[in-house]
Amino acid sequence: MNPSITGLHHVTAIASDPQRTLDFYVGLLGLRFVKRAVNFDDPTSYHFYFGDARGTPGTILTFFAWPGARRGIRGTGQIEAPAFAIPPNSVGYWLNRFKEHHVPAEKTPARFGEDVLRFVDPDGLAIELIASISSAGFEPWADSTVPVEHSLHGFHGVSIALEGYEQTATLLIETFGYRLVEQLNNRFRLAAPSEAGAGRIVDLLCRPDGSPGRVAAGSVHHIAFRARDDAEQLVWRKRLVDLGYNVTPVIDRTYFHSIYFREPGGVLFEIATDPPGFTLDESLEELGNQLRLPPWLEPTRSQIEEVLPAVKVPAKQ
Ligand code: ZN
Repeated sequence: MNPSITGLHHVTAIASDPQRTLDFYVGLLGLRFVKRAVNFDDPTSYHFYFGDARGTPGTILTFFAWPGARRGIRGTGQIEAPAFAIPPNSVGYWLNRFKEHHVPAEKTPARFGEDVLRFVDPDGLAIELIASISSAGFEPWADSTVPVEHSLHGFHGVSIALEGYEQTATLLIETFGYRLVEQLNNRFRLAAPSEAGAGRIVDLLCRPDGSPGRVAAGSVHHIAFRARDDAEQLVWRKRLVDLGYNVTPVIDRTYFHSIYFREPGGVLFEIATDPPGFTLDESLEELGNQLRLPPWLEPTRSQIEEVLPAVKVPAKQ
């Protein structure tokens, strides 16, 4: 088996206020709150998952919500911005929506022929909406605060800021199977070969004079790429270990299984399996309604619930 990566599975960032994060991503951006979980390494803090109607891989943005977390510093060795795809005729809708919600958003010059809206979330995380004709691999959520015709279509991709892009490009191209599809100045656009899902794009931004960033609130903690199943993940693990990467054992994240390693530019990469998915422990209709804990934390549920701040999920008006 000689698999290639088909795109992003999820992006995980850090937030400092759980309620404010829900208000922004569900209330303003119209994502579905697909899982209310805790950080397995620190069960006294939330791990929120947002996505399309079912949390399809390639649409999932997750947050470690650490109240009072200090702010990160933007720089190299970091994700510059996760980007969501929006329908090409939705640019005006989104500009208006940001204005109504008093979120400064700028329309940057078109990038590779596509309009780009750029804004920051309440913790300072830069996010882009890219007007793109691709709408593969996502399922709209009817109860979104955003009308279905303007909803986010899952990830377009991510931009990674790097001091030098070559080694990261080599990993993505020679090992993951990505292709260099376009280049403009210091931006190198790579795409996964598959047309099947969302999140196929990785832009490498080469910034030899940039200074290294610091990952904290308002920055991306890691990005995850997709593996079809456990068997394919083990193939990936072996290939990466053979290349000299220091790869973790497979870790059970309940809704997917994960391996992690640091890519040559300094960003933490994960490879996560598509199955079992978010309907493992609650029905599609009930996603996100209740705090979900893995079996080993259930015995301490009451203590965990006591410590976690109460939150309210914004609803469609
Ligand atoms: Zn992850």
